[in-house]
Amino acid sequence: MAVVEPVEAPGEGRRRLRLRSPATLEPIGEIEVEPPEAVRAAVDRARKAQREWAALPFRERGRILLRAVDLLLERQDRFVEVIVRETGKPPAEALAMELFPACDALTFFARRAERILADRRVPLHLLRTKRLRVVYKPVGVVGIITPWNFPFVLSLNPTVQALMAGNAVVLKPSEVTPCSGRLVGELLEAAGLPPDVLTVLLGDGETGAALVEAGVDKISFTGSVATGERVAEACGRNLVPCTLELGGKDALIVCEDADLERASSAAVFGAFANAGQACISVERAYVVSEVADAFTRKVVEKTAALRQGPSGEYDLGPMMWDRQLEIVERHVRDAVEKGARVLAGGRRNPEWPGLFYEPTVLVDVRPDMLVMREETFGPVLPIVPVRDAEEAVALANDSPFGLSASVFTRDRRRGEALARALETGSAVVGDVLAAYGALEAPFGGVKRSGIGRVNGEAGLRSFCHTQSVLVERFSRRSEMVWFPHGAAKSRRIRRAMRILWGTPLGRWL
Ligand code: NAD
Repeated sequence: MAVVEPVEAPGEGRRRLRLRSPATLEPIGEIEVEPPEAVRAAVDRARKAQREWAALPFRERGRILLRAVDLLLERQDRFVEVIVRETGKPPAEALAMELFPACDALTFFARRAERILADRRVPLHLLRTKRLRVVYKPVGVVGIITPWNFPFVLSLNPTVQALMAGNAVVLKPSEVTPCSGRLVGELLEAAGLPPDVLTVLLGDGETGAALVEAGVDKISFTGSVATGERVAEACGRNLVPCTLELGGKDALIVCEDADLERASSAAVFGAFANAGQACISVERAYVVSEVADAFTRKVVEKTAALRQGPSGEYDLGPMMWDRQLEIVERHVRDAVEKGARVLAGGRRNPEWPGLFYEPTVLVDVRPDMLVMREETFGPVLPIVPVRDAEEAVALANDSPFGLSASVFTRDRRRGEALARALETGSAVVGDVLAAYGALEAPFGGVKRSGIGRVNGEAGLRSFCHTQSVLVERFSRRSEMVWFPHGAAKSRRIRRAMRILWGTPLGRWL
């Protein structure tokens, strides 16, 4: 049964979608899909509102975001309820991985944006009669398109960064979790954000595609590689810059000297938190042979202790979308058909009617299996023994994805060296799922995992145009390169080039 399905309403105007709880499959509401003309109108209104918003001092903009933190603390129970109703994730996980990082993002960027986006005075190495200031200006209107797996924080965090940089935002959350996305608009409006500075538009791919074409000045997209490609094509056609935060196939490497207790707990959490539906979930574990059996035993024990369900106290919720559940089933089936052994899970949880897939541990996997090549995005952990850490790095890098990765060793220097050898946008030694939570760290992927960065100074600045303002400091009549040209000028230029780059003094200068 589909979690999102069209409501048949022949002859009526706007399309409607019916939503079901992924945990119980009960209907939980309907949304209207915003058509392209509504998207264009929202972008036009945002453009008008943006000018006054950008003219406010950073402190004023920050004050609104800090007020949003107070409101979020007050309203946390209702926000958790909305998120849990749409995703089925455990309330504690909604608190830890949605609300907690949301409070942090609001506070972090409210307090730091002024410093990060302050004009930079940069001394010039050559044109010393001029002064250079690098100025960060808002791009204008940012279109933000987000997925369903962390539907609140992944909508809020780029929105906060775009707003603090002085932009207006039109946000299109996933059709699978629209109400969690809508909370972002509700929160910031209640905190005092002026009208039209943020508009949340509900809808599916049609609404998202319309947003990319609606004349925005930047697209911040988080979602799958397939949709990311389509978004990138449309952005290319319109010459709109875009940040693409896409899928991953993150590896976890366990060296022979690793603390196996910590490494196995981290692997279980990294693979099964959010029921494996995190872009930086652990999707492959490469373990040095001499500790592979002990590590696998611990992983299987800890997996068996996990509780799954729709209510009460539980560690794992359901898959959030039936289409993703089908992908998980296909990957595990393909692996088993090709010879993989299932040490835990490997099937839907028969206890519940919803989209529950049991936390699954696979061994005897091979690189040609789907579960080792494509993003699974579900609670599946394949474990592969390797000769040594170097082989693990080579196998980890042999992937079209490059989002994040983890390394476990007691030797931190070696861990860092292995992390640096990984072809990923981030790498963590001694932990999992940590890269997105460290807001100082620019986050994003290489290869097919994406383009650009969110978070950190680089992420915040990516919501700006950099403008270089050069000011001549002296009132001279002319410059060496100005007209007229002629033999005398050529001689002067040759002499200058010889002195600057052809003499030890010039090179030293
Ligand atoms: P998706 O690509 O199906 O959808 C993402 C968003 O794009 C949704 O809002 C959807 O309505 C919209 N959309 C669909 N078609 C569109 C089009 N043609 N033009 C514009 N927008 C369109 O992704 P999903 O299934 O919602 O999310 C899961 C994926 O997101 C996984 O691959 C996961 O790895 C990735 N993800 C990446 C990160 C990251 O930071 N790198 C974070 C979370 C999730």
